[in-house]
Amino acid sequence: MIIRDKFYINGEWVTPFAQGVLDVIDASTEEVMASVPAGLKEDAQRAVEAAAAAFESWGMTTPQQRQGYLQKLHSAMAARQDELGEVMAAEVGMPLTMAKPIQAGLPLQSVANFIKILDSYSFQETIGNSDIMKEPVGVVACITPWNFPLHQIMAKVCPALAAGCTVIVKPSEVAPLTAFMLAEMVEEAGFPPGVVNVITGLGPVVGEALATHPKVDMVSFTGSTRAGKRVAELAADTVKRVVVELGGKSPSLILDDADIDDAVRGTVNDCYFNSGQTCAAHTRMLVPEAEYDRVAKKAVAVAQSLTIGQSDDPKVKLGPVISKVQQERVRNYIRQGIEEGAELLCGGPEQPENLPTGFFIQPTVFGKVTQDMTIAREEIFGPVLSIIAYKDEEDAIRIANDTIYGLSSGVWTKDMERARRVARRLRSGNVIINGGGFNMMAPFGGFKQSGNGREHGPYALDDYLECKALQM
Ligand code: NAD
Repeated sequence: MIIRDKFYINGEWVTPFAQGVLDVIDASTEEVMASVPAGLKEDAQRAVEAAAAAFESWGMTTPQQRQGYLQKLHSAMAARQDELGEVMAAEVGMPLTMAKPIQAGLPLQSVANFIKILDSYSFQETIGNSDIMKEPVGVVACITPWNFPLHQIMAKVCPALAAGCTVIVKPSEVAPLTAFMLAEMVEEAGFPPGVVNVITGLGPVVGEALATHPKVDMVSFTGSTRAGKRVAELAADTVKRVVVELGGKSPSLILDDADIDDAVRGTVNDCYFNSGQTCAAHTRMLVPEAEYDRVAKKAVAVAQSLTIGQSDDPKVKLGPVISKVQQERVRNYIRQGIEEGAELLCGGPEQPENLPTGFFIQPTVFGKVTQDMTIAREEIFGPVLSIIAYKDEEDAIRIANDTIYGLSSGVWTKDMERARRVARRLRSGNVIINGGGFNMMAPFGGFKQSGNGREHGPYALDDYLECKALQM
């Protein structure tokens, strides 16, 4: 049992004003594995004051100085990669064999990327008689979700620190443990006090205190569209910069010339990655009417080939979802899919027979889904795939774009020109062509209600900078 009872503020481990605690549950065993403080508004205020004071000097450091600190942070994190992976496998439920390279590996990659970006990023340019300076925005509140806990934190902290901003990290209360480990590594790397502060607590308490605080210059938020809208509303009063990375209902367009087996396998695996708890998951598989039966059969075969189980079992490909609440939410969506007339091809709302404990959901595939059904419109955030048949390419593009979201899309075709042509018409921040790999130097973010910022790579740095023009 891990007990965290201090916050990391101004370079010190301080006793919170908060008396209450929040339990952290192991998703595979349902046992309490840790507790963290349920922070109060006063804790948020203390962290903001520290970040604001530290900004005075951190904001004036050179990119090379900041690079030096990031290098030390990278070494500290690399030394603890396995431990980070183990903690996140337990709290999130992702199989350990994936959690080490992904949950712990991606944050390391973020740090390495921003060290590299600082080699060449231009913080100054000349336009006519003006010098244009790019300066840090200031104090940034980083509010993050639970699905990739440290990855989401580092997607904000790295560009913020590289830009010269100071940060308050408010991780998800459901998976907060690696944020404390980050604070230890920041301490080990010798960052000046107040540059990185870590507090925990509930969104409506600590998150809202940060979103409304006049000394917070920017809120970088990743989470549900509902909470993102609330944060933006609250932050408007002090005209903060607000960058939000929100939910999705991403389509995978399997075009009629695609290698159908590859495309179906790729889409099912993408949809079920991290037990479906991925914002960019391709959860709507759009298939030509003529191929429907073949696709449905193949999708079921792929879904049923995945071994479900506890995160520490090396054979497991699909772990539990994160919490009881999430399990219930996903089950309700499955029930609603059945009630609204979708064809349940495999899976269902029941607990898997061989796994009585743990927040497990059977890998579920729905066929004959239509756009008016709830399961085609709302983000489920569980291992649930919807197959939707289309008439022709035009119809496929129309269905793909018929959503309030716009985070990611997939296109499967043998014709790369066709892939580019279709991709241009898809209203999403990412288009994955034939399963193309995740590129941590390319911008990641959403169109429409999936958000407004871009994370990863040099485009992310722009979000944390103000432009100043000096007229000569
Ligand atoms: P959530 O919105 O419940 O919580 C996210 C964070 O916001 C948490 O730290 C939470 O405490 C905080 N929060 C909640 N209410 C708040 C409020 N009123 N004011 C301030 N802060 C508040 O989301 P979640 O359940 O942790 O994560 C799942 C969601 O995150 C999904 O919708 C998923 O699509 C989205 N997500 C998006 C991306 C992306 O890059 N677009 C990445 C990962 C997850």
